[in-house]
Amino acid sequence: MTEKFTGSFTQQEPIPEAGIAAALEVMRSGRLHRYNTAEGEVAQAALLEEEFAEKVGAKYCLAVASGGYAMATALRAIGVKPGDKVLTNAFTLAPVPGAIAAVGAVPVFVGVTDTLVLDLDDLADKASQADVLLLSHMRGHQCDMEALMRLCDGRGIRVIEDCAHTMGAAWKGKPSGRWGLAGCYSCQTYKHVNAGEGGLLVTDDADVAARAIIMSGSYMLYERHRAAPPPEAFEKIRYETPNISGRMDNLRAAILRPQLADLETQCARWNDRYRTLEDGLRGCAGLSIIERPEEETIVGSSFQFLLKDWTTDAVSALVTRCETRGVELKWFGGAEPKGFTSRYDSWRYVDAPRMPAADRILAGIVDLRVPLTFSIADCKLIARIIRQEASRLYQAET
Ligand SMILES: *Cc1c(COP(=O)(O)O)cnc(C)c1O
Repeated sequence: MTEKFTGSFTQQEPIPEAGIAAALEVMRSGRLHRYNTAEGEVAQAALLEEEFAEKVGAKYCLAVASGGYAMATALRAIGVKPGDKVLTNAFTLAPVPGAIAAVGAVPVFVGVTDTLVLDLDDLADKASQADVLLLSHMRGHQCDMEALMRLCDGRGIRVIEDCAHTMGAAWKGKPSGRWGLAGCYSCQTYKHVNAGEGGLLVTDDADVAARAIIMSGSYMLYERHRAAPPPEAFEKIRYETPNISGRMDNLRAAILRPQLADLETQCARWNDRYRTLEDGLRGCAGLSIIERPEEETIVGSSFQFLLKDWTTDAVSALVTRCETRGVELKWFGGAEPKGFTSRYDSWRYVDAPRMPAADRILAGIVDLRVPLTFSIADCKLIARIIRQEASRLYQAET
């Protein structure tokens, strides 16, 4: 009998009861806007910022409307101007080059290694083209952060981290988002905490924090922030910083606070599932597991493997066969963007040269989501199905 998986790859867990209760309280108060506070009250959004700053050890934190907004705001806050070039990953998702385009700047794509991280040799080659890197820890894979920072510091490149897939992750124990000048996180449903939409920006730089807070739409109410720099930091920039509204509201913040308090537990549950998939697929002929470096504290909320030098037809066949057995694989190598799997050459507003080395890797990247609604037994079954289908196809090919 052929086994089939019947679960949903897009079904997340419910919001914790504490979050639902806190959300009801905000709704009963009617004070959903973050600056709409009663005498002596501290807004949920301000508390969330304080708690997230504390969690990652940052001086300042700003809660905003999305991860994409956090990235664009960080770029603006460090002074990226229209026409400037910004280095970024060729292997990432559309909101990353989109954030660069949002400020009128121009992405310069940097290649990807076969461990799915930014290619530091390619970065060194392109380092003279820009003085900002928007580094995407795509699908949670972190490059050697010490080597990256050495390279960037040496070449005068400021780093903004896209941590949409690394909230809760670290390199050598230092949280993701704390290596560069600013770290940007997403609180969208498919990330590590779920408010439907939302983003967080952290930094230790008072000037960047002050600019980001004013840009997010604080009017002159910035003194209501807690994880914020002192008033002097705002005095200098308050007249020259535009309001580009993108605040987070108290309802989302209320939903997020209990999830944040529980992040470590959730990350451990993701990793149990990730390691189960890894064990189930290791050693499968034709299929390469991405071995994770010892320095990396991972959050296995999605899983990737490489089909090195498979033909387009063979990869498509694997995706189709797994789909008929209920396993939803996403292929980053497809010529046409489908769902979330677009690639650098699908972003045609950028005049990007071909990158043959990156193309070769991208052509073989297969991705699957690992929602926490999957049990360990589900992950074992998913691995068995992929293994069977991949082995069959690989044998037929060779
Ligand atoms: C989701 C995502 C973002 C931004 O998230 P939004 O909150 O949807 O704007 C940024 N980078 C990557 C890699 C993502 O997957």
